[in-house]
Amino acid sequence: LDEVDGNFVRTVKNCLFSKCIPTPLKGPLRLAAVSKDVIEEILDLDMAVTQSEDFLRYVSGDRLFPGSEPLAHRYGGHQFGYWAGQLGDGRAHFLGQYSNRKGEIWELQLKGSGKTPYSRSGDGRAVIRSSVREFLCSEAMHFLGVPTSRAASLTVSDEPVVRDQFYNGNVKTERGAVVLRLTKSWFRIGSLEILAQSGETDLLRKLLNFMIDQHFSYISLSDPEKYVVFYSTVVNETAHLIAQWMSVGFAHGVCNTDNFSLLSITIDYGPFGFMESYDPNFVPNASDDEGRYSIGAQAQVGLFNLEKLLAALRPVLTQIQQKRAQIILKGYADLYQMRIHQLFKAKLGLLGEDENDRYLIAFLLKMMEDTQSDFTMTFRQLSEVSAEQLLNMNFTQMWALDDLLSHLLFSDWLNMYLLRLSRQQNDTDLDRQQRMKNVNPRYVLRNWMAESAIRKAEMNDFSEVELLHQILSSPFVTQETAEEAGYAARPPRWAERLKVSCSS
Ligand code: AMP
Ligand code: MG
Ligand code: MG
Repeated sequence: LDEVDGNFVRTVKNCLFSKCIPTPLKGPLRLAAVSKDVIEEILDLDMAVTQSEDFLRYVSGDRLFPGSEPLAHRYGGHQFGYWAGQLGDGRAHFLGQYSNRKGEIWELQLKGSGKTPYSRSGDGRAVIRSSVREFLCSEAMHFLGVPTSRAASLTVSDEPVVRDQFYNGNVKTERGAVVLRLTKSWFRIGSLEILAQSGETDLLRKLLNFMIDQHFSYISLSDPEKYVVFYSTVVNETAHLIAQWMSVGFAHGVCNTDNFSLLSITIDYGPFGFMESYDPNFVPNASDDEGRYSIGAQAQVGLFNLEKLLAALRPVLTQIQQKRAQIILKGYADLYQMRIHQLFKAKLGLLGEDENDRYLIAFLLKMMEDTQSDFTMTFRQLSEVSAEQLLNMNFTQMWALDDLLSHLLFSDWLNMYLLRLSRQQNDTDLDRQQRMKNVNPRYVLRNWMAESAIRKAEMNDFSEVELLHQILSSPFVTQETAEEAGYAARPPRWAERLKVSCSS
């Protein structure tokens, strides 16, 4: 622990955290959204308390929970391929752990709560735009079944915050917001990297032992191979996480090592995006000119980040263990391929294994790319049509399949697919549809949906944030209000010009 109190920006050595108190936002504060699921199921609270003035103060950093000693975490990281040195929580405060009635331990963190020793040139703030996106997307990802940090609440203020939206001199004044977010651990690859890079090996070992003890309970601290087993778990789980991102068309946007969790969950929602027209080159972040973090590059970037994790572990591994870890890393590509294959097979309702399954999946994706079919709705509509409708290519009101139908080879693929389905024993068409509907969401947080909710939120109308939050909490269930809002319809024309920047 860095004992120097205060939020002045500095280089910090030999510690994991700095003591640091949140700087409250200027009022009046408004509670824009709260997650009932997090409030009740994680924080053991009654939704009624969220109405109180006290609640608003606690979740905005204006008042501290009893016993809370807020900290900012020191970490480093590789940003866009290069070692960036000390980064750290530049606008986040760790408030403490909460042990709930289920026996789970959750770490509470405010984001946008003011400067810390790690703010560098930043102002320690987050704007409404990015905070609405983080709140909605972390909850949406959870209900899609993708491991992620959670969001408890979103508070907005009247405090002006200046942002250069697209690095083109277009400066805009926005308003500050704070999200109270939670995960079981906020430690990242960058948390270990800074210790290895600074030669702080004792602390490195201490943090690793803490992680293993708290979060990898099947690994024994007395096992001499514990760090290798830890590494192998992170390799495995990272492959799984990225495969899950791909299966819902999620592009994180900034896959730097400081944004990759040691628990292999999705953290740090910035310029992320859900892919609409299928395109492996889809880049959600308008500032990522080279497309380093395109959706199709994520698996490869995962490998890069795991190499950096291995480099950070090197000081605590023997020569032999380093070799073993190298071999584990070599297995990453196969693990990823295996995971993604399982997930896409499920998206197509395929049971068992057929030697042509890889071809069937790749063929479909290639046709989707050629016809720019919508990723989410193509799979959803394949889940909603009967085999008979498919056979007759009867796609009324199925806009995504209608796009796909224009492909010259579509009927060839369809014949293969129907033949494959017909060979599945003990399977009915209704079962197939139900299985597929359970893994192919009808609603994801498309940029235009977030944008529309943000425009209203900026005028203190939070109804659309609320609506989206509610709908995205059941993304696999068709909902009337969502249909009325056009959330499963072809995206509106104005959505094509939307851009998302890193500035948040
Ligand atoms: P990100 O790209 O969001 O992962 O952020 C990279 C680093 O920049 C982290 O150390 C953040 O804490 C820091 N950072 C981002 N925005 C701000 C801000 N407005 N004020 C202070 N630090 C920031
Ligand atoms: Mg980050
Ligand atoms: Mg961020």
